[in-house]
Amino acid sequence: MTDLKQTVLSKITEKDVVTLAKQLISVPSVNPPGKLEEISSFLSCQLRDMGFKVKTVSKEAGKPNVIATTKGTGPALLFQGHMDTAPVTETERSSWTVYPFAGVVQDGKIYGRGAVDMKGGIAAILTAAKAILEADAELQRDLMLAFYVDEEAGMMEAGSMFVVSSGHLDRVTSAMMPEPSNMQVRYVFKGRTIYEIAVTGKTAHTSSPEIGTNAIVKMARVIGALEDLRLKFEPHKWLGSCTVSATGIEGGMPGTNPSVPDFCRALVEVRMVPGQTVDGVKREIENAIEELRAQDHDLNTVVKVLHRRGASETSRESEIFQVLWASAKDVLGKDPELFTGGGAASDLHWLLEKGVPCVEIGPGPRNMAHKPNEFAEIRNLVELSKIYALVALKICCPETR
Ligand SMILES: [Zn+2]
Repeated sequence: MTDLKQTVLSKITEKDVVTLAKQLISVPSVNPPGKLEEISSFLSCQLRDMGFKVKTVSKEAGKPNVIATTKGTGPALLFQGHMDTAPVTETERSSWTVYPFAGVVQDGKIYGRGAVDMKGGIAAILTAAKAILEADAELQRDLMLAFYVDEEAGMMEAGSMFVVSSGHLDRVTSAMMPEPSNMQVRYVFKGRTIYEIAVTGKTAHTSSPEIGTNAIVKMARVIGALEDLRLKFEPHKWLGSCTVSATGIEGGMPGTNPSVPDFCRALVEVRMVPGQTVDGVKREIENAIEELRAQDHDLNTVVKVLHRRGASETSRESEIFQVLWASAKDVLGKDPELFTGGGAASDLHWLLEKGVPCVEIGPGPRNMAHKPNEFAEIRNLVELSKIYALVALKICCPETR
């Protein structure tokens, strides 16, 4: 192992990682409501103190994304994360045995909202970056960090999508993030597309419904047809099948108004596997509705894509995958495992869509995300910090490979 590697690794201590994770958990950033100024300014201060050049960029008031760079020019390696967390609901609160915003440490675990998803991971990244800057490593490629708002809000438009589409990450040539993965390496990502289906009918008094067209009844048939729809796809070895779920519906007038509803709107979410396209799936949905219409000429529908994210796969031959694999092996003392956790979509999508190779590795236990008594294994956070540090060194200072 080179001296530089040793110096950097020796600077990563459990105490530092846990202290930072505790501080991050102590700044609540639950979403909703998604008020994220405080966590954003906490991270900005930390990064400035470490020697990063820091800026914040916002699409919406109260939602500043944080971007930090070292050199500020040339190709860059990006470590990213989301600053917001799932909320602590009223119902959930009574199941917590510790205060969710204190970062209680017990038996090798750190507890709190965001401990595993993903404030523990952010603490690991920050500790890694700090060790590299303190070791005065001569970086040939820029090391960038980006922390986003609104990942937990579902649509991510003020967060990663905005930061990528407004050009702030155009220099990024590879990226990594610590979504909880039980230390498994993830390189394939399901797509997530939300379709809005609107059905219009004809209103009438409910004493003579036969002269109206009930939009809710028509929508029930549309949803039934989509439930039965067999989309064309090849099941993926790691991601399994494409799935279709109706996630919302509204129609009719509020209260007990005696009117046949003339409008109904539903949201349908499709989680796609590599090989499927957003437009291809939309066509299949429209064809299924078209078949219904062949039997029911009164069916009036409009299908709109509200949110589109295709499925992606990073090549296992890519530099970032290879370097992550070797670094994880160095730290864990054995080959890491490939991610078997299925199909959540990733905030890396907007970079993946631009062809930037991206991978994920994060702490465990993955199944504690968004749960009462959420915790992260401290051992994982320290391993993770060392893995991110080695990846940064090997990519930004290739002589350390
Ligand atoms: Zn997450």
